[in-house]
Amino acid sequence: MVTVDELFAIDSLLTDTERQIRDTVRRFGEQRLRPHVADWFEQGTFPARELAPELGALGLLGMHLDGYGCAGTSATEYGLACMELEAVDSGVRSMVSVQGSLAMTAIHKYGSEEQKQQWLPQMAAGRALGCFGLTEPDFGSNPGGMRTRAVRDGSDWVLNGSKMWITNGSVADVAVVWARTEEGVRGFLVPADTPGFTAREMHRKLSLRASVTAELDLDGVRLPGDALLPEGKGLSAPLGCLSEARFGIVFGALGAAADCLAAAIDYARTREVFDKPLAAYQLTQAKLADMAVELGKGQLLALHLGRLKDRGELRPEQVSAGKLNSTREAIAIARQCRTILGANGITLDYPVLRHANNLESVLTYEGTAEVHQLVLGEALTGSKAFR
Ligand SMILES: Cc1cc2nc3c(=O)[nH]c(=O)nc-3n(C[C@H](O)[C@H](O)[C@H](O)COP(=O)(O)OP(=O)(O)OC[C@H]3O[C@@H](n4cnc5c(N)ncnc54)[C@H](O)[C@@H]3O)c2cc1C
Repeated sequence: MVTVDELFAIDSLLTDTERQIRDTVRRFGEQRLRPHVADWFEQGTFPARELAPELGALGLLGMHLDGYGCAGTSATEYGLACMELEAVDSGVRSMVSVQGSLAMTAIHKYGSEEQKQQWLPQMAAGRALGCFGLTEPDFGSNPGGMRTRAVRDGSDWVLNGSKMWITNGSVADVAVVWARTEEGVRGFLVPADTPGFTAREMHRKLSLRASVTAELDLDGVRLPGDALLPEGKGLSAPLGCLSEARFGIVFGALGAAADCLAAAIDYARTREVFDKPLAAYQLTQAKLADMAVELGKGQLLALHLGRLKDRGELRPEQVSAGKLNSTREAIAIARQCRTILGANGITLDYPVLRHANNLESVLTYEGTAEVHQLVLGEALTGSKAFR
């Protein structure tokens, strides 16, 4: 028997350091996270603050950023870590992505030296958590329509508006909030204890239940002038961070798919139907073979994009191709694996439907599948079809 990794000789494409990082994160995931994750999902909780220092000690927070206590790994190493975290649960990878690729990246790319010194070292260590507030109740795919406003008042800024679906929102020490100003969209660092700022955890989710999602309310939030991220101007600033997070998803979603496929193969080999193992039927083998091929192709594409990113050559539409492919194939694999597990597949005793449900969010956030089709459509034809 071979694993999908062996089938595609994935290891032969990795450096020693990449394999080491992957194996370290895999061990942490199996030992520290997997034993609890079904309960967190069932209870709709995620101990973000408790886990953050442990994830920080492993160098996973702001992992691919340089300086300020960050690990400074390659993009591919970061991707492989995302894959292992998401093999446990998309919620864990989401927490790490939002902290590192969104909140810390915004500060790293667009912040002043003082802002970087103040926030990045404690965020890298997991002593402080960040969130990234871009989406609003009426503006998700089209964040340019945002209604949150920041107005100058002397040397201060005053923010009013609301944000929705914000990962880590109610556990964050600092929110990176994007708001419309007279000079276009700008980013602000809002400490969670600022008067007028409230974060309310959202409940009744059927997906990403092991993840904190919140609504942010900004009611006359007064910030000093130096709360503005000086280097991020216009919508391209938040979009630049989203491109980083999407890159993590290119790898991450395939981790969830790989976990589903491993569970389905394991189950099919021991479950007997009509007097022989389910794995010995041609229909089952066809399903497994097709899923293995899609998973392997996805992994090869992810690695290719990782190499391009490490050479500084990765273009946004290439990230879109990877995000679209990985999430679309991962959710198809998760659903197909669920059929193999029959009724057992609908329980939390197996990871498969938990992953499938999580992947509904992963398909939607960081640009929906349709938005990435539109990005690719524009790249291929030269015609924008968003409106
Ligand atoms: C669990 C979770 C966590 C999240 N975390 C964060 C976070 O930390 N920070 C943050 O800012 N946001 C976050 N989001 C929000 C996420 O980014 C948005 O949900 C996403 O951008 C889609 O926006 P929407 O939900 O408003 O859908 P809409 O934009 O209303 O889209 C609805 C449907 O219309 C389609 N559509 C949109 N435009 C077009 C078009 N031009 N042509 C054809 N079809 C179109 C979409 O693809 C989708 O199918 C999170 C979401 C979830 C579910």
